[in-house]
Amino acid sequence: MLLGCIADDLTGATDLAIMLTRAGMRTLQVMEVPDAKGRAGLDGYDAIVVALKTRTCPVAEAIDLSLRSADALLALGAKQLFFKYCSTFDSTNEGNIGPVAEALMERLKADLALVCPAFPTNKRTVYMGNLFVGEVPLAESPMKDHPLTPMRDSNLVRVMQRQSKGKVGLVPYPMVEKGRGAIGEAFAAARKRGERFVVVDAISDRDLIEMGAAAVDMQLITGGSGVALGLSANFIAKGLMKAAEAPTSMTAPKGRAAILAGSCSEATRGQVAAAKEAGIPAFEIDPLGLASGAQSETTILAWIDQQAKEKPFLVYSSAEPAAVKAVQDKLGREAAGVLVEKTLAAVARELVATGTTRLIVAGGETSGAVVNGLGVTALEIGPEIDPGVPWTRAVGRDLVLALKSGNFGAPDFFVKAWERLA
Ligand code: ADP
Repeated sequence: MLLGCIADDLTGATDLAIMLTRAGMRTLQVMEVPDAKGRAGLDGYDAIVVALKTRTCPVAEAIDLSLRSADALLALGAKQLFFKYCSTFDSTNEGNIGPVAEALMERLKADLALVCPAFPTNKRTVYMGNLFVGEVPLAESPMKDHPLTPMRDSNLVRVMQRQSKGKVGLVPYPMVEKGRGAIGEAFAAARKRGERFVVVDAISDRDLIEMGAAAVDMQLITGGSGVALGLSANFIAKGLMKAAEAPTSMTAPKGRAAILAGSCSEATRGQVAAAKEAGIPAFEIDPLGLASGAQSETTILAWIDQQAKEKPFLVYSSAEPAAVKAVQDKLGREAAGVLVEKTLAAVARELVATGTTRLIVAGGETSGAVVNGLGVTALEIGPEIDPGVPWTRAVGRDLVLALKSGNFGAPDFFVKAWERLA
């Protein structure tokens, strides 16, 4: 294992895992900090991404979980650590990016770490230390009104400095533009000035690749998934790994295929409609029916039992906003969500116990509930079905999963995803 990654949220972890896979690294994503026992069976990967949920939790908890992840990754042989956060630098004056990064540096006895959330493909760029979202500075983007981490300052040197004890500097674009040699010299100069962090500008993938090359000996890298573009080349150049072809298909165990949709996002509602149109048998969950007992896990499983075994089927609770609101007014927002999530997780458990081996789950929270219910802790990243959504294999289980954030994927996602399985 070469690159040990700690991500501050689940979808960010998957983002990074996909990026590393595209860059030729065989990558595993784990859902919890692997303890000594859990570390067995995690061999044979170039990169491991630990998915935490530490973006907005109390600082002390974020530090503790990140350090435990770092220890596990180092025990697995990691030569470099990567602390992954959002490309909009989601944080407050108290953290958690600065304090976690400083704790990791202390653990590694590192002297300098780079800071770069740039992700040009997604229109996140950094120029003269200022983060842009599309054409506007961060503080003028919708992030200024984020409920948990409102970003009201676009200058990342200042933002990072407010969160950190050590000094924060900048590697400005004119140096980045000159390439890896100049960036490396800028790192050396920053060390001389006693800086602990340097925000590094980047407006293109080329900048990220040059930055990655210059950071070859940096023990800790911090940033968005874009920075991952340039890291695998260092390990390849050192002869530590060979680039693996990004997978285009995944072999899956024989067994039934199912789609469980608990997302009410527009994209998922479109995918449900397209699946029905394409003739995929579908069962609609009515949360009020669940609450009254008219529907239950048992009635859903009985319906599934009547469907053809060799074709995928769909169980969904996805509904239009007005219908969702009516349910929430009756049951309460939280209670309605939990009721649907629990039901889908219970259905998934029973399906997997009785021979379902291929599962698509739509919805971020829904996926979390299903994966927890199934006790899946490690996912090997396979081919991308649509941008941001890969097939994954549950390590040590006869099961492949595609976990889709609600708004991801093309309309025909539920129909075409199976073509990537062999
Ligand atoms: P997304 O990724 O689209 O946000 P999530 O799964 O994260 O999807 O969130 C959807 C939430 O809505 C879940 O808590 C789910 O249980 C809940 N939910 C699903 N269907 C309904 C419905 N018909 N009425 C009310 N809540 C629902």
